[in-house]
Amino acid sequence: MFGPRIRSRYDSRARIPLKPVELNDFRDFLKTKPKNDPDSSVMYIHIPFCSRLCDFCAYTKIIGEESIIKLYVQKIKQHIKQLSNYAQFKEKVYSAVYFGGGSPCYINTQYIREIIEVIQDHFNLQNDCEITAELTVEDIQAEKLDQLHRSGINRISVGIQSFNTKARQLLGRIHTQEDILERAELLKESAFETICTDLIYHPELQNKSEWKDDLSYIKSLGFSGFSLYPLILFPNSKLSQNGVFSEADIQVEYDYYRMADNYILNLSGWDSITPHQYGLFDENTSEYILKVAEQSDILAFGCGSGGRIENYQYVITNDVNAFIQNPDNSFFADMSCFSVSKKYYNVSNLLLLPEALKIGIQESKQFPDKLRYNFDYLKSKSLIDETEKNYYLTQIGRFWAGNIADYLRSEIIKLFS
Ligand code: SF4
Repeated sequence: MFGPRIRSRYDSRARIPLKPVELNDFRDFLKTKPKNDPDSSVMYIHIPFCSRLCDFCAYTKIIGEESIIKLYVQKIKQHIKQLSNYAQFKEKVYSAVYFGGGSPCYINTQYIREIIEVIQDHFNLQNDCEITAELTVEDIQAEKLDQLHRSGINRISVGIQSFNTKARQLLGRIHTQEDILERAELLKESAFETICTDLIYHPELQNKSEWKDDLSYIKSLGFSGFSLYPLILFPNSKLSQNGVFSEADIQVEYDYYRMADNYILNLSGWDSITPHQYGLFDENTSEYILKVAEQSDILAFGCGSGGRIENYQYVITNDVNAFIQNPDNSFFADMSCFSVSKKYYNVSNLLLLPEALKIGIQESKQFPDKLRYNFDYLKSKSLIDETEKNYYLTQIGRFWAGNIADYLRSEIIKLFS
């Protein structure tokens, strides 16, 4: 039913019907109090620095130098303080803060601590607020882990991509399987209870037996959250430009996906949270991911980040040097802002289905019939199924989630055009 698989959720998100908004209008909106008693929100901080640049990576990042990092952190702290003065945020409670990158732990941990302190001083954080930092294998050092824990980080997401040495070399990663297993011992001995990881699959990276081995480490090393990605050949990444990998056959890609999905869902206590993410559900190890999937507000700071406050969305420039060098230190200086048109307000929740994997049957009844018929159509293709309470994505539906999002968005646009 679909054309090429949409592998990156960012590709499908780009189709959300949005219209540009003047920054002054966005500022005026932020001066108002939230309309409803708000549920807890989450915060994202982008730290775009790495020690070296990986071949497959398309994220916003540069090689970090101390003088630049210092200026960047100063700006972030200023932005956090500035935003805290707006009425929109005075009474909001934040249940998760996420440091993403780049490699947030590449910068001196003192900087992370300073940012967390500014957030704690200016925003209401829930008592058990989840504070995550992404970590590279390189950063897994006993002292660093201890410093991070003492700075307030309580959840670690370590980017491994594959435990297989050959696959790692193909991705331009320098650490071998032995290095990772050695460092995994440090993770086990650390004070962190919630440690998550990610793996990337592609038939030219691992054969199926090697993929099975990769997956087995999720249990044996005691991870409590896991992100699963196909290898995406982003046009601006070195990996795509050097032509080492070909586009995977879709049936073979599905076989790899299904092996991983079956493996994880058979682990005790694990469930899928989004089409790409899984976690130990009972232990609530993925507050940030859950909230983002449920379309909660995201207050985002830093280069290349994107935030969402009610019906407004904003993106901050991904040009790190321009961001740092801009003499205007305002949060709004390097930003573009958009809003969802009013006509879409009542139907935008339809997109919870491909993002949060389910939508309430009761809730779906509020949609116009023309949109509700899509549920029957998706069901006839075995992409969704239903329980008494919910429509939910099937295993094959989760594999095609990006395309389902795209399809539903285009149906919404058609309905109102
Ligand atoms: S994969 Fe991570 S460490 Fe590598 S360049 Fe991208 S952000 Fe940096």
